[in-house]
Formats: sequence, C-alpha cells, structure tokens
Amino acid sequence: MSGGLDVAVLTAWLGRVAVRYAAEQGYLCDLDAAIGDGDHGANLARGFTAVVAKLGQPASPAALFKSVGMTLIGTVGGASGPLYGTLFIDMGKAAGESTTLDAASWAKVLAAGLAGVAARGKAQPGDKTMIDALTPAVQALQGETDLTAALTASAAAAVHGAEATKKLIAHKGRASYLGERAIGHQDPGATSLAMLLQGLASEAG
Ligand code: ADP
Ligand code: MG
Repeated sequence: MSGGLDVAVLTAWLGRVAVRYAAEQGYLCDLDAAIGDGDHGANLARGFTAVVAKLGQPASPAALFKSVGMTLIGTVGGASGPLYGTLFIDMGKAAGESTTLDAASWAKVLAAGLAGVAARGKAQPGDKTMIDALTPAVQALQGETDLTAALTASAAAAVHGAEATKKLIAHKGRASYLGERAIGHQDPGATSLAMLLQGLASEAG
C-alpha cells in the first residue's frame, strides 16, 4: 500500500471495524462475562455503529480521529469508553495538519494514543488491560518504513499481546477484583484493541 493513511482509508477502516465488532459482539461479551460484567462487546458494537453514523466527511485524519473519540466517549460507556475515546482524541492531536499518514507518522500517532490511554487509565504493561495489546503494537511500528509491513507487524503484535493476557492477574478494572481467578481468561479490552488494529492492517496493508 503506497498511498498512506488518508481520510478515505481511515473511514473505510472504521466501517470495517464496526462490522467486526458487531460480528464479534457475543465473543467480546463472553470474554467480559468471565472476568467482568459481560458488556464489552455490546459497548463497542454500539459505539462504532455511532462512529460510522456520525462521521460525515472529515477534512483531515486529525478531524476524523477527534470525531471518533468524541463519539466513543459519548456512546461506549463503562471503563473502556473514556479510554478508547482518549486513544482517538490523542491520536488526533498528534496527527496535526497531515493529510496522509505514512509508517513513521502512524507510529507517532499511535504512540500518542497509547500515552493518552496510559495517562488516563494509569495501567501499565502486565496489568491485563488493552495496554497489553497496544504497547507491543506501538513497539512493532518502530523503525519500520514500509506501511504494509508496519501495519501487519503491529496487528500481529497486538494479537499476541492480547493472547498473553490469559496468564496475567488483573490490576485495573473489574477483573482486578478476581485476583488469581482471572488467570486463564483473555482480557476483553486487549482483544478488541487487537481487532481494531487487525482491521487497519486488512484495510491498508
Ligand atoms: P467495564 O469494565 O466498565 O464494564 P468494558 O467492559 O467496556 O467496561 O471494558 C473493559 C476493558 O476495559 C477491560 O477488559 C480492560 O481492557 C479495559 N480497562 C479497564 N480499566 C482499564 C484501565 N485502567 N486502563 C486500561 N484499560 C482498562
Ligand atoms: Mg464490562
């Protein structure tokens, strides 16, 4: 993919993710039912349906990310709504005036989103949250100049990070009340975060 991430590609990505979250709603709710309250899939399916409905034709990637973030904060609810919202809003701030993001600028943008989520939720790697998918995804982008390779490696790292949450005790969110009983269960937020980045790799990879 040579053209980079422009508004058209990013819009198509969000549509793809909305379809995926609708399809995986039951799976994500089941993951959350095991270690939380069972609403994660419904939260995200509702949020991304609203994202697609409200997006319109944003003027830039920055405007698009800001719109997505505001919609997610307003519609997802729970712990993950403000966190997913912050991810996109801080990505928007980092996107600046760019009309098209290449591998290096996407790396900068996603790193800014990670920093925002970490600052807001105070979770660290190993706490069994979406941070455990997002952190390796950001790391996988470092030094990769080919956008297709970067997005593919980043999505794979996120999937691996999400799967690795199975062995962790949770230190943030509802799952933290379970102590060792959370072991063996994959974190729903890390799983949905990996799906988000898989969607981008499929759309633009
Ligand atoms: P709730 O827990 O309020 O029902 P969701 O079910 O939508 O919200 O989202 C749960 C997910 O949110 C968890 O699987 C975890 O990945 C993420 N999460 C919860 N707290 C934090 C936090 N402090 N930092 C990062 N992610 C978090
Ligand atoms: Mg929940």
